[in-house]
Amino acid sequence: MNEFDYEPKPVNVDVDVVYSNLRSKFKKNKYKKNEIALIDKAFNIAREFHGQQLRRSGEPYIIHPLAVAEILLGLGMDYQSIVAAMLHDTVEDTPYTIEELTDDFGESVAVIVDGVTKLGQLQFSDYRTIEEQQAENIRKMFMAMNKDIRVIIVKLADRLHNMRTLEFVSPQKQRDKALETLEIYAPIAHRLGIRSIKDELEDRSIRFLDPVAYANIEEKLKDFSKTGNEFLQNTQKQIIDRVKKLCPSATISGRIKSVHGIYRKMYMQGKQFDEIYDIYAVRIIVDNLIDCYNCLGLIHDMYRPLPGRFKDYISTPKPNGYQSLHTTVLGRDAIPFEVQIRSVDMHKTAEFGIAAHWKYKLGVNSNNAAFDSGLKWIREMLEAQQQGEGEIVSSIKTDLIPEEVFVLTPKGDVINVPQGSTVIDFAYAIHSAVGNKMTGAKVDGRIVALDYQVKNGEICEILTSQQQGKGPSRDWLNIAKTSKAKNRIRSWFKNERREENIEEGKNEVEREFRRNYIHLSKEEYPEFIAAIIKRQHLENEDDFYAAIGYGGLSLVKLMPSIKDYYHKNYGKSAVENRDVIEVNREKIRKKGSTGVIIDGMDNVLVKFSKCCNPLPGDDIIGFITRGHGVSVHKRDCENVPKDISKCDDPGRWIEAHWDSDIGETYKATITITCLSRIGLFAEISSQVSMMNVNITQVNSRDYADGRNITELEVQVTGLEHLKKLVDKIKHIKGVLNVER
Ligand code: MN
Repeated sequence: MNEFDYEPKPVNVDVDVVYSNLRSKFKKNKYKKNEIALIDKAFNIAREFHGQQLRRSGEPYIIHPLAVAEILLGLGMDYQSIVAAMLHDTVEDTPYTIEELTDDFGESVAVIVDGVTKLGQLQFSDYRTIEEQQAENIRKMFMAMNKDIRVIIVKLADRLHNMRTLEFVSPQKQRDKALETLEIYAPIAHRLGIRSIKDELEDRSIRFLDPVAYANIEEKLKDFSKTGNEFLQNTQKQIIDRVKKLCPSATISGRIKSVHGIYRKMYMQGKQFDEIYDIYAVRIIVDNLIDCYNCLGLIHDMYRPLPGRFKDYISTPKPNGYQSLHTTVLGRDAIPFEVQIRSVDMHKTAEFGIAAHWKYKLGVNSNNAAFDSGLKWIREMLEAQQQGEGEIVSSIKTDLIPEEVFVLTPKGDVINVPQGSTVIDFAYAIHSAVGNKMTGAKVDGRIVALDYQVKNGEICEILTSQQQGKGPSRDWLNIAKTSKAKNRIRSWFKNERREENIEEGKNEVEREFRRNYIHLSKEEYPEFIAAIIKRQHLENEDDFYAAIGYGGLSLVKLMPSIKDYYHKNYGKSAVENRDVIEVNREKIRKKGSTGVIIDGMDNVLVKFSKCCNPLPGDDIIGFITRGHGVSVHKRDCENVPKDISKCDDPGRWIEAHWDSDIGETYKATITITCLSRIGLFAEISSQVSMMNVNITQVNSRDYADGRNITELEVQVTGLEHLKKLVDKIKHIKGVLNVER
């Protein structure tokens, strides 16, 4: 038992005083009378339902929702968010139901509370959770965010207050929560541009995750805080005196870098303390965009800029909508410091991100880049999650990594991409048309491989082809790191290569069905496929194959339910299913030198298992080993599962037959397209008979354009034999194409 197992000791807090202080802030912030009335009502209900519940700190539970509401007030969120914050734990922890809440406060508030409750149930930090589970959790999170973006903003405020009071929970829980906050919630706050919350979440997480390093940095900062503050004061004065002459309304502020900011550079980017050039930063806020650049010129005139440290986030905003000019210059005594210059409007977005939408009461049609890009991001993540397991976990990890690298185009435009991006990601970040036409890339003048990861300050030139119809390669999906590039590649295949996708999809369906022991007769197949298509809400068979082909639909993900459907409706076990297998046998199969035929596999290494030593005539089955071909067992060998379809790895068991009659021949159909001419068929048939091949059926037809298409059904001894025949026919004059 540890100290955390004890009941918390009640702490005396006057809830009425706390609430009336908060309430006066609502009034000051111009919330309307009827809005405050609803906030009051929410407070009273929450207080009543939480009753005697205590926080770990010993405070009455209601203090927590009040604190969350206050954080949201600071962000300028609307009254519905505040009401939801008051009630956010009632549905989960008290008898108050979501139906009652809907009746009392309406649908919008209920959606937010419901979303926050659901997010609260997701666990991202548990290192035992399998990726699939994590993917599912992340998917749910984005679904909740997509319903109403305020869900995640309330959740972030909730998490922030929990982090502020994390000292009261067990050390294990501290680490779990801190890790989850650092990996999921802080990056989301960053992506949505809510800087104050992101900063504090990171700071508090690191304090729990790496207390020693945290204390070290704090110590270092303390050492020079006195001289540092002095330096900042003097520099700010110097600058503002000059800037005021240029734009009188400009304001200036300064800061010493936060502990987590320094931690990030030192421990995550491996920099030394004195390699951090933005320990000091000065921020200048001016009226408009033109003044930003004028101001920059002035700064570069006053101080010497450090080369390669100028970033123009005005022309290339960060993905979260952040805009500003950054430059690092050398100050007095050669102390480097960063200068950030932005307009008033840019500053609103920089501080509040997506929340600026509510704080500044921006209309739906207003130009809030953070709001639009936040919503777009959520939709993109939801689209990305349809791609299959694991995919979304890695894409959220890359997309949420706040670190970006700045890469230049040969013309000098700065493109920012997530760290670890390849030249493919870079190409798609410029424009999808550039990505789609890409043939290669040069970095700093050198040709690089497509998996080359771009770095800060490099000049990257994308080599493109003007050739019509040139597009990305499917391999790029495995090379690209960003979900943006991957989505663009997929959508290219979706739009440009329908025929190819259908073909690809058909092959995959065939492969997966075989692997999963789904055998259907020609008569059964169409209605079986139709049933699957209906479930996917697709129009027709081609759409289904195409979706699989370009990766919009994951067949692997669908297989369990397809198998289930198969067993329910076509419930034959594969082994009894001889007649169906006969249908598949129509395909030409390669005879192994062992005298065993493995279904659907050419040139496969076959060996006999030692456990049962199968002999010709025994009922046999093959097992696909890892790297050693197929091992053949007797069907009743004890190492073979009784019911293959229910064993762990059904896809690795495969039909095998004795090739008892070496002289046996197989039927194959070949389609010959040729220019119609007298004597052509005679020539073909003499070639065929010269190779000792029997023709069992002929179907020939002349077309108006002078072509003739002939279908020949022939008997051959195997694939080699057939290939030779096709080759011979191809060389006959007038033959355009031979297919089988
Ligand atoms: Mn809570």
